[in-house]
Amino acid sequence: MEAIRELYKAGPGPSSSHTLAPQRACLLFLEKLKDQPISRVAVSLYGSLSLTGKGHYTDKVIIDTFAPIEAEVSFKLTWPYDFPNGLTISAYDEQDQLMLEWVVYSIGGGSITILNEGFDFQKQVYEEKNLLEIIDVCQKNQWTFYQYAFDREPDLPEYLSLILNEMMSAVRRGLDTTGLLPGRLKMERVAKSMYLKASAMDEIAAKNRLRLLAYAYANNEENASGGRVVTAPTLGASGVLAALMYHCYTDLGYSRQQLIQALATAGVIGNIVKTNATISGAVGGCQAEIGVACAMAAAAMAQLEGANLKIIEYAAEIGMEHHLGLTCDPVGGYVIIPCIERNGAAVLRAVDAAFMAKTIGAIKGNRVNFDTVVRTMNYTGEKIALELKETSLGGLATECTWELPE
Ligand code: SF4
Repeated sequence: MEAIRELYKAGPGPSSSHTLAPQRACLLFLEKLKDQPISRVAVSLYGSLSLTGKGHYTDKVIIDTFAPIEAEVSFKLTWPYDFPNGLTISAYDEQDQLMLEWVVYSIGGGSITILNEGFDFQKQVYEEKNLLEIIDVCQKNQWTFYQYAFDREPDLPEYLSLILNEMMSAVRRGLDTTGLLPGRLKMERVAKSMYLKASAMDEIAAKNRLRLLAYAYANNEENASGGRVVTAPTLGASGVLAALMYHCYTDLGYSRQQLIQALATAGVIGNIVKTNATISGAVGGCQAEIGVACAMAAAAMAQLEGANLKIIEYAAEIGMEHHLGLTCDPVGGYVIIPCIERNGAAVLRAVDAAFMAKTIGAIKGNRVNFDTVVRTMNYTGEKIALELKETSLGGLATECTWELPE
C-alpha cells in the first residue's frame, strides 16, 4: 500500500479527480519545462473529466494554473486510452512546434498516473495489501491500527496534525459563510442556519446530530465553492470525516492527539480500498467515494470509543457494505446535488455503524469481513453503467428536469 499521506491531500474543491489531480499534473508539467519558453498550452479532457469538467471547474483550475501562459481547454467525446478519466497536456513554442505532450490519468482522490514519464507516485510504503494481513501484524505486535501506521510512517502524526488543521478550518469557514453556491443550480448555503438551529435545541442527542450534519454541509459547501478541503478519500466526499473530527473536538471533547490517531486508523481503511478497489467516482460510482468515506469515519469513531481491531473492522465494514451500488449522478455536473446532502447522511451513518459494531459485535461476530466487502465494491463498480459514474448522463442528473438558468 502507498503512504497514508498520499491519501489525505488538501486542495481546491470541488472534486479531487477534476480539480486537484489536473492542477497537480499541470504544475508538474510546468516544472518539467521550467526555463523553456512556452508560447501556449492545449489541454484536452476526456471521459468523466470531459462530461462533468465544466460543472467541476476543471477548465478554470487549468487556466489559472498555467496563467499567464495561454491555455486552451477542450472537452473531447472520444478517448483513445483504456481508462475512464484522463487528459492530455501539450506545450508549444513560439514557432508553434510541439515541445512536450503528456497523457495523464486521474485515478481518484487527486492521485495521477502520467504515462511514460517515470514518476513513481504510487510508491509502496506498506508491505501488507489487505486488512486481514494488517490485523495479523497488529495482533503479533499488540498494536492498534494507528500504532501500525505510525510504525510504518514515523512522520505521519506530524502530517496528520496539519491535515486536522485543514479540516477544522474548512468546516469553520463553511459555518461562517452564507449566500449562493456558485453555478446554475442557485442553491443557498445552509450550514450556518443549521448550526444556529442546533444551538437553540435543548435535547442533547438531537442537537449533536444536527451539529454533525451542519459540519458536513459546511465542509461541502466550501468544497462546492472551490474552497480548500481535504481528500478523505476524495474532495466530493470530504465532509464525512472532516465533520466527524470537528464534532469530536468541539462538542465531544476528544483531544487533538486522539483525533490524529483516529485519522491514521481511517487512513488505513481508505488505503486498503484504494489499493484493492477504487476511490474514484468515475471508476466505481459514489460507493467508492461516499461509501469509503463512511467506512473511514466509522472506523475513526470506533477507534475514538476505544474499540478493538475486530470492532473497528466491523464498523468500517458496515459503513462500506451499506453503500454498495451507490451511483454518481451529480445534477448539472456540480458537486452539489446529491453530494452535499450525501456527506451529511454518510456521517450520521458512520456514527451509527460504530454504534452497531460495538453493540452487535459484542453479541455476534461479523460474518462478512472488510476485505470481502472491498472486493464486492470493486465488482459492483464494474457493473455500474457508465451513465452513473460521474458523467451526468443518467440518474438524478437526467431525472431532475427543472430548467437550469444559463
Ligand atoms: S455523487 Fe458522490 S462520487 Fe459523485 S460527485 Fe457527488 S460525492 Fe462525488
